Amino acid sequence: MTMKVGVIGLGNMGGGMAATLAGKGFDVSGFDLSDAALAQAEKNGVKPVNNRNLLISHSDLLILSLPKAEHVEAVCLGKEGIIEWGRAGLIVVDTTTSTPEASRKVAAVLAEVGVAFIDAPVSGGPKGAASGTMSMVIGAEEADLARALPVLEAMSGTRVHVGKWGAGNVAKIANNMLAACHLISTAEAMSMAAKAGVDPEKLLQGLNAGSGRSGATQVMFPTWVLNKAYDSGFTMGLMRKDVGLASDLAANLGLDLPLSQVVAQLWQASSQSLPDNEDFCAIVQRTDARLYGRGE
Ligand code: NAD
Repeated sequence: MTMKVGVIGLGNMGGGMAATLAGKGFDVSGFDLSDAALAQAEKNGVKPVNNRNLLISHSDLLILSLPKAEHVEAVCLGKEGIIEWGRAGLIVVDTTTSTPEASRKVAAVLAEVGVAFIDAPVSGGPKGAASGTMSMVIGAEEADLARALPVLEAMSGTRVHVGKWGAGNVAKIANNMLAACHLISTAEAMSMAAKAGVDPEKLLQGLNAGSGRSGATQVMFPTWVLNKAYDSGFTMGLMRKDVGLASDLAANLGLDLPLSQVVAQLWQASSQSLPDNEDFCAIVQRTDARLYGRGE
């Protein structure tokens, strides 16, 4: 029997994941609070469901792609949530960038009613979601992961099982802490080189052939910054959330991480000039408005 997959949260990422799975022959239904997201999903072969309880009770595997941990907790453990409507044997794959604490709490409570929980936050952006090439860092019990694997393999290119519940989100927070640093440090290096007379495109080629390369030099600058497109599909608001998650995690662990602290301050302070709905790559504009600005 085909596995019935439900997706809760059909935004930039969840919409692409649902479409990818539908395109690969899975029986996919979806729910979102936004009618526009539901309508778009329907165009991509996903069955839109207006009643969340119905979606939960009819799914064998549920994918969550929600903004924050608090949304995950509400959908899983809140009134009329998965805790009430999920059948024993259901697997919940949470792809939200959330907190390790929320993952552990939700997983433990759902386990009591026979529902499995996997934290599987993702990288690769809306393009990766829509093409099934995202990478996942996974926190899960081995047996649960084995059951979910056919769906995870269909929606991602790379999967790294990093540990038990919550470990996926620890790894994702570490990843985004680095991405937040690299965007700013690359902007500074490029601004310096440009002032010294080196063409940014040429500099990028040099960096990518050298040890200064990163996701910022290999993907972000060539795809969204130097062409001034700023259309990655990942917002400033979501990246500020992730930078905040890294600060909280370091503080909870009693760690003194001075570089990350400065980077976090730069991201939070930028909210004055760069609103939450702006593209996350626009953070580079605070380093050099002339070089990276849209020129408006
Ligand atoms: P988004 O804002 O585009 O999508 C979120 C969707 O969730 C929206 O359609 C919203 O209507 C819906 N939603 C909110 N609360 C809901 C609820 N209670 N029930 C049902 N639907 C609800 O965000 P996104 O860019 O798709 O990001 C989703 C998650 O993935 C975030 O945690 C983000 O940090 C992470 N992420 C995003 C990217 C990216 O490039 N956009 C990359 C990796 C990870």
